[in-house]
Amino acid sequence: MRKILSTKSAPRGHWVGDGFPVRSLLSDMEGLNEFSPFLLLDYAGPEKFGPAKRPRGVDVHPHKGFETVTIVYQGEVEHGDSTGQGGVIREGDVQWMTAADGILHKEFHSHDFTKKGGTLEMVQLWVNLPAKHKSAKPGYQSIGSGDIPVVDLPDGAGRVRVIAGSFDGVKGPAKTFTPVEVWDLRLKSGASLTLDPKAGFNVTVVVLEGEVVLNGEKELKGAARAQLSPDGGAFNLKAGSDAKILILAGEPIDEPVVAYGPFVMNTQTEIRQAMKDFNSGKFGRL
Ligand code: MN
Repeated sequence: MRKILSTKSAPRGHWVGDGFPVRSLLSDMEGLNEFSPFLLLDYAGPEKFGPAKRPRGVDVHPHKGFETVTIVYQGEVEHGDSTGQGGVIREGDVQWMTAADGILHKEFHSHDFTKKGGTLEMVQLWVNLPAKHKSAKPGYQSIGSGDIPVVDLPDGAGRVRVIAGSFDGVKGPAKTFTPVEVWDLRLKSGASLTLDPKAGFNVTVVVLEGEVVLNGEKELKGAARAQLSPDGGAFNLKAGSDAKILILAGEPIDEPVVAYGPFVMNTQTEIRQAMKDFNSGKFGRL
């Protein structure tokens, strides 16, 4: 069985802007590189918002050196960025934004969602880029729920939406710079599932909702996550209730991580340069 290295459960929440009440289930801003290539995972909501006139969210801010992946489970998020792209990310949709060389963007509840109110639930995941791609051209992939293949598990155990990588031979739509698996997994109460990601990949099991026993030994009650050894081997999930799970696996990027807020580079010098570039307007306009 793949070894459990660490777990985290029921983290205290905080607000990102005035739109996103999040719980951080993983964060590598100290540069320990223990989840590589993943840097951060914030789980926003589920939170009910009443109807309002002014959209809540986060106004213009920069990112550089990595990718942000937004997975919307409920509600609607509207995005606009300095490459001129924008749009609404709806229930089931994913936005895979490559900040790379530097981008400005804003993230708000959509106008429709703001007007009607409702429940917002989403994940934002930060995926690191290797040094040689940190200066790639910024851009984003708008991945609609219809573009994401669904694999039904045997015996009605549940299903997997393959966002990135592949599951059971079915490939996900996201184009990634390094090999990464992102699977939106639902398990029915009582179901058991054994997964065997590639040896050498770091693996994170994120239980958003429900109760899951990992490897027959560790109970994870949403919201919680476990980090598994890259040494290889299969692991088992047994659902004690209907469960909403996110499986992340990826080839570690074996390079130093120096993070400062929305900038993730390899050295302090590069962080200082990123701040200079941002302050002098090199990230474009929004
Ligand atoms: Mn952002």
